[in-house]
Amino acid sequence: MADAEIIAVGSELLTPSKVDTNSLFLTHELNALGVEVVRKSIVGDDRARLTGAIRDAMRNTRIVILTGGLGPTEDDVTRDAVSAATGRPLVFSQEICDVIAERFRRFNRPMAEINKRQAYLIEGAEALPNPRGTAPGQWLDSDGCSILLLPGPPGELKPMFANECAPRLRQRLPKLVIRTRWLRVAGMGESDLDALIAPVYTRYTNPVTTILAAIGDVHVHLRARSESETEAEALLDDVERQISGLLGDRIYSRGGASLEQVIGGLLLKRGATLSVAESCTGGLVAMRVTNVPGSSRYFLGGFLTYTDAMKTSLLGIPTELIAQHTAVSEPVALAMAGAAAKLTGSTYAVSVTGYAGPDGEAPGLVYLGVASPGKTEARRLQFSGDRERVRTLAAQTALDLLRRALLAS
Ligand code: AMP
Ligand code: MG
Repeated sequence: MADAEIIAVGSELLTPSKVDTNSLFLTHELNALGVEVVRKSIVGDDRARLTGAIRDAMRNTRIVILTGGLGPTEDDVTRDAVSAATGRPLVFSQEICDVIAERFRRFNRPMAEINKRQAYLIEGAEALPNPRGTAPGQWLDSDGCSILLLPGPPGELKPMFANECAPRLRQRLPKLVIRTRWLRVAGMGESDLDALIAPVYTRYTNPVTTILAAIGDVHVHLRARSESETEAEALLDDVERQISGLLGDRIYSRGGASLEQVIGGLLLKRGATLSVAESCTGGLVAMRVTNVPGSSRYFLGGFLTYTDAMKTSLLGIPTELIAQHTAVSEPVALAMAGAAAKLTGSTYAVSVTGYAGPDGEAPGLVYLGVASPGKTEARRLQFSGDRERVRTLAAQTALDLLRRALLAS
């Protein structure tokens, strides 16, 4: 397996307002070629620092990819830094200069003197044509490394990588395919999940297993490498089968679909509809359900009843029920879900009532209700963490309960 390192060059990428997206694109493309990105970094427009980073990368990997810093101005230092790191001088190319001059002529613009800087090639490098911009890219084989200098603007980088770099890499690399699987899991924290499946995945170095966690949502990512697609898929099948055996129906999707997409699919398959009655989540459940394009085919609407009075006036929850049990209780969660289904005529309904915190008597205490045909159920949950976390977990768990109710019917 070949390794690569990516260095994104540009001081703007070190500010809070600009994100390095090129390395994500490059990583995706490299992985498809069977190349693993083992490190990436962002270096400002600083010749000395960049030279150091390139030398360091050349010691570690055989493929070093730089993006950015190929412009004509003083702060574009990539050519200089590669020249310094490899000890190869920059050589003026009249041919490249002519191509740049021709480009300016075509756009009826005078070519500034500084643009000539873009006509310098590192000794021994091959120029990579850039039909979308002035600076050509460069491919340099030096000291056992392939060093690629690519432009920063994504619109120039992408076609250059696809047309010039990928074919050259493909030719040099042993054939290797990478196949991936995503298992998305609800209703389990990251550490519990890891404790459960680590005994399986730690026995394998291929596929590589990565666990990514968001609030109430854990993703298990499997990545297999092999010379053949069938073999890569077989490696994935083996580990996925074992992990699935341990996680069971806590896995809500395998192809990357979100929980709300899965629910949408289940409702559509059953010709069923959904409504919600939300209190402490303030519409979060409805927002997530309606994030899915086409949700109007199954989502009817809902009730946002934040106060006790609104629970009574909109949903008809008896004041005595609230007085007896408080609004955050199992009977009220059941009544809210039942009322939403009845009032909207939906097949299923979800309710949420709880204390989002951080103040109040029992922050994190949430009751969830799900009304299904012929059955209404509720769950008591005690979440920990700040307000955002409690609300996110409440919405996520409510959707997962609904998913389970759908699967059971
Ligand atoms: P440069 O080639 O360094 O002159 O970069 C030109 C422009 O490309 C910058 O102003 C950015 O808008 C964009 N750019 C450079 N590097 C990146 C990167 N790593 N990710 C996304 N955009 C970039
Ligand atoms: Mg730059």
